[in-house]
Amino acid sequence: MEVIKNAKMKNHSNMKIGGEAKELIFIEKKEELLEVLEEAKDFFIIGNGTNTLIKDGKIDKTFITLKRLNAIKLLENNRVYVEAGLDFSKFIEFMEKNNLSGLENLAGIPGSVGGLVYMNGGAYGTEIFDYIEEIEIIDNNNNLRKIKKENIKYSYRATEIKEKKWIIISVIFKLEKGFNKEKVKELINKRENNHPLDLPNLGSTFKNPEGYYSAKLIIEAGIQGHKIGGARISKKHPNFIVNEENAKYSDVIKLIEYVKNNVKSKTGIELEEEIIIIK
Ligand SMILES: Cc1cc2nc3c(=O)[nH]c(=O)nc-3n(C[C@H](O)[C@H](O)[C@H](O)COP(=O)(O)OP(=O)(O)OC[C@H]3O[C@@H](n4cnc5c(N)ncnc54)[C@H](O)[C@@H]3O)c2cc1C
Repeated sequence: MEVIKNAKMKNHSNMKIGGEAKELIFIEKKEELLEVLEEAKDFFIIGNGTNTLIKDGKIDKTFITLKRLNAIKLLENNRVYVEAGLDFSKFIEFMEKNNLSGLENLAGIPGSVGGLVYMNGGAYGTEIFDYIEEIEIIDNNNNLRKIKKENIKYSYRATEIKEKKWIIISVIFKLEKGFNKEKVKELINKRENNHPLDLPNLGSTFKNPEGYYSAKLIIEAGIQGHKIGGARISKKHPNFIVNEENAKYSDVIKLIEYVKNNVKSKTGIELEEEIIIIK
């Protein structure tokens, strides 16, 4: 493993905001993680940091990354073993190489496999849990366990893993034959056209309330484009907050509160953050 003291966390969040953490540990074998967990009191597992807003200043936490646990292996019957640290884009490349289908709708999501599974990420009607067979986790008693999907609770952007703060080590996916290259191309183009990818951001800031789209509610509240400090509600996609000019953590937090208050007073609906915030 590699331990980096006084790690600059802005380099590990896609928002390019974040202070200095006590340490950042790169795990290379799952046994090392068990060792680290025995010692670490206050820790946070960071994947690609594409959904995580990190506070400024000193952070008295151990950040642990599984980025180097990134093996991927083809099993029999269109099943694939994937370690949690693998970039989801590499998984899509592997699907293409092996002519496997199922998760094409998620192409272009910049997270790690662990990050996506943790919150049951998804796009265009597909969720990552749709294609999961089994997940290997470390539970709160530091036990390494394999759990079949049918024994894990999950719903829209929520999982028992998140609720219980388990750590995902690896996942077995059950896919189908026939990679759809055209669909992947089309959806990546769509993302490039609709998302403000030229500025640091964390994807959708708020979950969609049942029966509504957060983006639409923000437009209806008349606040798209509003800016606080260096952070702005994207003009391209209102559910994205972008770091336009060296935004501070506090700018983003104020903007989130501003959106929630305005949407609530103008539409009566309460928005809930999709992003993870390290306070
Ligand atoms: C441009 C853009 C577009 C996006 N589009 C989508 C989209 O269409 N759909 C969607 O669902 N999301 C989307 N996202 C959000 C984000 O990419 C996903 O939520 C992704 O799954 C986060 O993965 P990550 O590795 O970056 O997680 P991080 O931000 O590093 O972490 C997120 C959470 O996952 C936990 N976590 C990470 N790895 C593990 C692990 N191994 N075990 C336990 N917990 C873990 C962390 O502790 C944290 O709580 C988008 C983001 C961006 C920037």
